Amino acid sequence: MGKVYHFSKNAVLGTLVLAVTALATIIALSVAYHKERANNQSKPGNGASGTSSTSAPPTTPFTPKVPWDYYRLPKGLKPESYNVNLWPRLKPNSDGLYIFTGNSTVVFRCLKDTDLIIIHANKLNFTNFKGMHAKLSSHHEEAVPALQKSWLTARTEYLVVQLQSKLKAGAMYALHTEFMGELADDLEGFYRSEYLENGLKKIVATSQMQPTYARQAFPCFDEPAMKAIFNITIIHDPDTVALSNGKEKSHGVPVKVTTFEPTEKMSTYLLAFIVSDFISIESSTSNISIRIWARRTAIDNRQGDYALNVTKPILQFYEKYYSSNYPLSKSDQIALPDFNAGAMENWGLVTYRETALLYDPMLSSTENKEKVTNVIAHELAHMWFGNLVTLHWWNDLWLNEGFASYVEYLGADYAEPTWNIKDNNILNDVQKVLAIDALASSHPLSRKEEEVSKPAEISEMFNSISYNKGAAVLRMLSEFLTEPVFARGLSSYLNTFAFKNTVYTDLWDHLQQAVDNTPGLDIPRSVSEIMNRWTLQMGFPVVTVDTQTGTVTQKHFLLDPDSVVGRPSQFNYTWFIPIKWMKNGVDQQQYWLLDKTVSGEEWVLANTNVSGFFRVNYDLDNWGRLLSQLNTNHQVSHVHGCGSIYKHIIRHCSANKNTELSQLDQSECRNDTAEPVAVSQYSSMLVHSCVLLDKYVLGMDTSNSILPSTGGRGRHLEQNRTPLRHGNKCCLFLPTFKQPDRKISLVCYLNNKITMKTYICIIFAPLLIKTYKIPAFFAGKWIKKIIFHQNKATSLFF
Ligand SMILES: [Zn+2]
Repeated sequence: MGKVYHFSKNAVLGTLVLAVTALATIIALSVAYHKERANNQSKPGNGASGTSSTSAPPTTPFTPKVPWDYYRLPKGLKPESYNVNLWPRLKPNSDGLYIFTGNSTVVFRCLKDTDLIIIHANKLNFTNFKGMHAKLSSHHEEAVPALQKSWLTARTEYLVVQLQSKLKAGAMYALHTEFMGELADDLEGFYRSEYLENGLKKIVATSQMQPTYARQAFPCFDEPAMKAIFNITIIHDPDTVALSNGKEKSHGVPVKVTTFEPTEKMSTYLLAFIVSDFISIESSTSNISIRIWARRTAIDNRQGDYALNVTKPILQFYEKYYSSNYPLSKSDQIALPDFNAGAMENWGLVTYRETALLYDPMLSSTENKEKVTNVIAHELAHMWFGNLVTLHWWNDLWLNEGFASYVEYLGADYAEPTWNIKDNNILNDVQKVLAIDALASSHPLSRKEEEVSKPAEISEMFNSISYNKGAAVLRMLSEFLTEPVFARGLSSYLNTFAFKNTVYTDLWDHLQQAVDNTPGLDIPRSVSEIMNRWTLQMGFPVVTVDTQTGTVTQKHFLLDPDSVVGRPSQFNYTWFIPIKWMKNGVDQQQYWLLDKTVSGEEWVLANTNVSGFFRVNYDLDNWGRLLSQLNTNHQVSHVHGCGSIYKHIIRHCSANKNTELSQLDQSECRNDTAEPVAVSQYSSMLVHSCVLLDKYVLGMDTSNSILPSTGGRGRHLEQNRTPLRHGNKCCLFLPTFKQPDRKISLVCYLNNKITMKTYICIIFAPLLIKTYKIPAFFAGKWIKKIIFHQNKATSLFF
């Protein structure tokens, strides 16, 4: 336990003087804050937090005429296996370029007679075989057609081979290519990551194949349904280690060539190849070898220990939850200095940003620890849902990502049962995406397969609707089916389709079977009828409960009620809504709102535990009764009661310009014992404020150093940055889960010393809260209780 300090009056007075001097800066900060916030919000392609714009500059529509004009592969050829040999060079060549060379032989079956071979390839230079890009051989005894010509298509990213006669349906062939590519630092395909260690530049060759970059590493049928077995061999320097999806099979001494066990039947986007001089720590379960890989100094400083500790229970949880063994013999996880997404679920070799896998107990923030747990739980959830059973095409991405975004809380909760981390699902997914999905420009979760074919269209799918709304509606589904029924349906789905591909209706079918086999479980429509309303139309309803008239109504909720919804819906923007509710503090039987308007009973609090993906409005009297109830005992409902009620009020005020509502005395909601989890809705705003404090008051740019985003897909270079290096930073931190002592902490690190600069940080916190109009409820008495961490978490209160 840490030591407790008390501020002397003089110190506080001195600090106040400084605070006043800097008051003007606060005003400047306010402007800068909003500017930066707007900038951040408009960053494109952020996987978990942004929305992707679907608008593109007008272009002349291109009409495909020949098979290689289409973005989707023809259906005539199906790969069975690949032999891929790659040799990345970790030193530049005479032109100053980092390159890799390789060769690949893909064995494929012909399903339909054809004289064309179309296979994905991008940014590769091919070795010329008598004027051709490839060599074709028969896998067995079949006659092999001669090659007529071959060429590359830049737009659709193919290698096309025209044959002089046709391949025969049912026969197997092998296509061999040799090629060279650049190991560029573009974070795509087989790429180069750089970092400094003891002043020396180090190079890692690593990969990111999802969604369409495997074709930049070797020619392949680069679609998720084109599953095959991959036999990988990597050539590398003796002082480096090579990793891939399978376990290393052989490597000589000195290590020069590493071959790997053949993979299971899998999709190209889940492949990974890495060459580095990283080291690892390991443990195991009875059937899985678990390793955490990172830079030597990170491992030496024990930053991988936490990840290793939580991986085992999380894997064990999923094996039980899915009723399905982990499908591989090993689980490697590696922290990369340069990585685009927060993490990537490559089967058996998961890649992470350093800050999503490494945790330093001395210097990383508690929120950092929580993120590490969540990201690991997310990626490991994919080992079954996504990797073992893969969706047929990218239009169903929401199910893959929404699912992992939902169950990650179950896995993390199992590993850290004291955190109540499942509550965070409401903040991180439900509340977050309710704001985005309330816009008339939102879009449905599900898209038609033909709407998503170009690589750019596929990348657009990685947005907040897919991740957060996906998680929110699956959570609602699990709530109304109950978790055991949901898990049973899931298990039968995974066991039926192992090593295969599916469409989302396959999951509905298996969940329906689980419902049908559960006596006493009564849902008013089939799983697919209910879920279609949530997945095939955009937005969500606001349920209005009028306790005066006893009516319950639903309406499409729009943040701007005057906005025009241009996208028609086959369901006219009505939903089948499961409503959990309570009256006078007592939970009532779940209510299904199936029509637009229903006369009801006396309602008090609807959507308890925010289990449904909708907002709730009440008549004014009921709002008043709710607020007064929260004042006397805010714990009458779930932990999110107060926070979500308050949030509903804010939303209804802004959406409906409801001045009466805004005049309700919300200060009644103030409560000294308010749960931090409700407060943390504002934590990112406060953290951002402190980054600006650093920048403008203290002259340090920490914007790239604290509380990193884990879900983003924007370019994110983390060179020279690890949790350890937070040591010199000022960092404001509000926990997003309940801490044992239930205090909101403001953590400052400044060379591990308490200095006047850190006082500024502390004194500014309440001012910032005022500046950004953070409501009194959230800035209650607890903000004065500041835990000051110095070295071994020394605490200080005043
Ligand atoms: Zn994911």
